[in-house]
Amino acid sequence: MTQRIALVSGGIGGLGTAICRALAHAGHRVIAVDLGGRDERVAGFHAALDGLDVSFAPLDVTDFDACGALVARLEAEHGGIDILVNAAGITRDARLVKMDKRAWDDVLSVNLDGVFNLCRHVVDGMAARGHGRIVNISSINGQTGQFGQTNYAAAKAGMHGFTMSLAREVARKGVTVNSISPGYIDTEMTRAIREDVREQIVAGIPTGRMGQPDDIARAVAFLTADASDYLTGVNLPVNGGLFMSF
Ligand code: NAD
Repeated sequence: MTQRIALVSGGIGGLGTAICRALAHAGHRVIAVDLGGRDERVAGFHAALDGLDVSFAPLDVTDFDACGALVARLEAEHGGIDILVNAAGITRDARLVKMDKRAWDDVLSVNLDGVFNLCRHVVDGMAARGHGRIVNISSINGQTGQFGQTNYAAAKAGMHGFTMSLAREVARKGVTVNSISPGYIDTEMTRAIREDVREQIVAGIPTGRMGQPDDIARAVAFLTADASDYLTGVNLPVNGGLFMSF
């Protein structure tokens, strides 16, 4: 197996941590990037990795130039980034009539601009080397819409339009671009949902449980494998059957 260099944004988050672990287990060198200034969270992240060799670098994905500088540094250190997983994300829920401009801008800028900012800087190198795997973590709510989430659903649906377009642009260069649409996964993000609403959501999931971060991490490992080279422009729903479509 070829060892690949993997960059995971939102890397110390609930899904990010599981994704870093899965990619490290697959034999890759993994660099997690996430907002800086949170030493305690980074320490918890390393503790959750059971000694796996994953490094951390602070990065705000909304900062285009900072993304460029980090990618340039990692390329110089490691020779190139082969796998990019865009998992940085935030929610700022409110019905549209109550949504302020800030809540709209913040969600679009982390969830969607962040994907552009990192992809824009890694894709040339991937294409030049003839190999690359990009996975964008979207959401079931980008597929179905969700009350109080015009901002988040727009960003997550937009992410898949981006995925399909970039997939077409780089398919001949050995670079695949896919998205994953998780359903409700047990992380900080969903622990913020009111208990009674969570119970209602779980009752509607055919498998009868919320997803675990490893459910998503396994899908990332699959899409980023060298052998998954005929799979591109796909949105892979991992949602326990909550939303089925074809
Ligand atoms: P999380 O809050 O645990 O992790 C998100 C991470 O993104 C955090 O570590 C946060 O610090 C980081 N982040 C936020 N703003 C950033 C910025 N500007 N620059 C860099 N990093 C930033 O949430 P999660 O559940 O692990 O979510 C990961 C991804 O999966 C998100 O994109 C989320 O929208 C998506 N998602 C999650 C669920 C779920 O049920 N948990 C469902 C569907 C989609």
